[in-house]
Amino acid sequence: MMQTNEKELVQNLLSTPKKIAIIPHRNPDGDALGSTLGLYHVLKQLNHEVKVISPNDFPDFIAWLPGSETVEIFEKNKEKTTQFLDSCELIFTLDFNALHRTGDLMAETLSKLSAPFIMIDHHQMPDDYALVTISDVNFGSTCELLYNFLSNLELNHLINKDAATCIYTGIVTDSGSFKFKKTTGNTHRVVADLIDLGVDNPMVHAELFSTNSYSRLQLLGRALENLKVLPEHKTAYTTLTQKELYEFNFQKGDSEGIVNYGLSIKGIDFAAIFIENKDEGIIKISFRSEGNFDVNEFARKHFNGGGHINAAGGKSLVSLSETVNQFVSILAEENKQ
Ligand code: 5GP
Ligand code: MN
Repeated sequence: MMQTNEKELVQNLLSTPKKIAIIPHRNPDGDALGSTLGLYHVLKQLNHEVKVISPNDFPDFIAWLPGSETVEIFEKNKEKTTQFLDSCELIFTLDFNALHRTGDLMAETLSKLSAPFIMIDHHQMPDDYALVTISDVNFGSTCELLYNFLSNLELNHLINKDAATCIYTGIVTDSGSFKFKKTTGNTHRVVADLIDLGVDNPMVHAELFSTNSYSRLQLLGRALENLKVLPEHKTAYTTLTQKELYEFNFQKGDSEGIVNYGLSIKGIDFAAIFIENKDEGIIKISFRSEGNFDVNEFARKHFNGGGHINAAGGKSLVSLSETVNQFVSILAEENKQ
């Protein structure tokens, strides 16, 4: 996975105390925040000055992760975080493959830095901005890849309970609690090690999945009412308007996972959710599939997005109804069966 020269390069970079920034993608999920904080807990023990700088705020369901209180938010504190980035000697970017995934302004800031970058990621087609690119789509999560990376560097003895809890969380969220296709024997061996290191796994699952509010369940109810099924295309899709989000007191993260309900219908292998975001003037789209239908390709080709074969996202600049009409026409044109 890591070539000998890359290993030496990374070992060399980490051999003396440095100022280091670790950066997840915008709208960080469990894998993005889990991997960045997991690495943070390890690097701190090597006497580096380390900060996780997230492009924007993270949702409540991962706000309990050990170390989250130390994370600085670029979009809330541009001056201070830019100053820190400018003075960094090494930048890790985790769980994304192109700088624009941090947002336009942060991407511009990052592209001007002279410090070397190390990318650790599992998305397809990584951009070529890093001195060391650890990118492998065979891994179901960046967290599992990070564990491998640390093992290769013989740094896994520094994975303490806090680091293990962060890494475990990203593996759980990106694998759909160990049920997606990329869940391998290695995944379970890593998880076994993490639990042996003291991860309170029932606590992690409770923090992640037993946090519904009443209004979030009502929002889910509305999304299920809005669900449309196109059996001829083996497709199900749903929508949420900005008005519906207000009605149910939408909080960041409330729409997480709703798209998957479409996939749970027998005979459906492609699901989508279209969410109106009037602030950003876009329709945010999530795509999920089961089996061979490649939603990364679909999102790239039609909706300015990308992701993985079975989970991707994108956006549209026209209205919600126009976006849905386009989507249905594309299915017909592409003769999706
Ligand atoms: P989600 O639907 O949960 O927002 O995203 C699913 C997957 O697609 C994630 O791995 C995410 O990185 C990727 N993704 C979501 N939105 C976008 C986008 O606008 N552009 C690209 N390139 N990837 C996206
Ligand atoms: Mn990930």
